[in-house]
Amino acid sequence: MNSKKALLPKLVALDPLNPEPFLDLSRYADREHLLLASYAMHSSDSMGRLHPEQTHSYRAPFARDRDRILHSSAFRRLSGKMQVFTGEMGIYHRTRLTHTFEVASVARTMARVLRLNEDLTEALALMHDIGHPPFGHCGEDILSQCMNEVGGFSHNQFALVIVEQLEQRYASFPGLNLSRETLAGQDVRAHKAEAAVGRSPMLEVQIVDAADSIAYDAHDVDDALQMGLLSIDELSELAIIKRALTATTGRHGLLPKAQLRQLLVHELIDLQVGDLLGVALEQIRTFEGQTSSEVSDSGLRIRHSQTLASERAELESFLFDAVYRHERLIPVRKAAADRLEAMFHVLVKDPARLPLRFRTRAESNELPAVVGEYLAGMTDAFCDQQYRYAVESASGPLADW
Ligand code: MG
Repeated sequence: MNSKKALLPKLVALDPLNPEPFLDLSRYADREHLLLASYAMHSSDSMGRLHPEQTHSYRAPFARDRDRILHSSAFRRLSGKMQVFTGEMGIYHRTRLTHTFEVASVARTMARVLRLNEDLTEALALMHDIGHPPFGHCGEDILSQCMNEVGGFSHNQFALVIVEQLEQRYASFPGLNLSRETLAGQDVRAHKAEAAVGRSPMLEVQIVDAADSIAYDAHDVDDALQMGLLSIDELSELAIIKRALTATTGRHGLLPKAQLRQLLVHELIDLQVGDLLGVALEQIRTFEGQTSSEVSDSGLRIRHSQTLASERAELESFLFDAVYRHERLIPVRKAAADRLEAMFHVLVKDPARLPLRFRTRAESNELPAVVGEYLAGMTDAFCDQQYRYAVESASGPLADW
């Protein structure tokens, strides 16, 4: 669909005495027509679902996708998966679930300002980390190493396996039968192929990516300060922190450390969101009247200002050394990676120990890939529990999640 005109929903005159067509805001297509920019992904332009379904009377297709993700068991398991820090390190820090909600909140705010599709944005945000294995990035690294012969492991691709195959919620099809646009938003491999020919992902996808890194930059600072891995003094050398501290003290004066930490985090999010929106609004101004697909064809990439982009890069490289490679994290990660690796080898050597569902999958898929899927779906605690069973008992299948 190539013109703005083609995007407009049919306006229906329901009152025969008043033949003027009008917008009925109980109809999602009318709501989108009124509220969304032409370059947002409109429900009326959706390519639909693999298994055709009746449209819902009041929920838009992307709102249904969001609800399906929210109600999935893989989504609930995010509460038991570490983001950066494990449960052994306290209870204050973010899990993958709380991180996901922070990303959804930031992304939805930005989508609203840019008049993008908030339902699609929220669905993409809630799904973005659903494929993460237990134990954060060290879990992903070790699984990727173990699965080398089948192309490694990627949490983005595994998210698609979860929502297309592993979730079992409907009688007539496997998976969640999400809209094609929601699935495409998670398909990072396809984004790379499209980038090679100059196309960019939908703006809703780009907003979620930006919200993800804005959220983790800010909350990793908060968690690391709260856990004593860092001090505000050490951080205050960084340009972006200096800027956030100046804004905070300008607004509130001198504050006790705990309060300063929290306000600093608010300010860090606000600074980054404000900067991105300012630049993005300028960038998309010229696309008014064009469609989502035309924006993708143009290769538009929304971005931060150059100043903020370099300040963020400085913060991220500082966090990489001072937090992600902190000496308190290294032994915890090493032990978790060793447990995952040991389980992987036990199961590849003796597939009879896989739960029935995965033994069945192994009949039509490569065994290392299926073992990786089983391990990647686990929460941290479930992984530790099954590890004990895998090493302490020589036979019998492990539990399904
Ligand atoms: Mg994330």
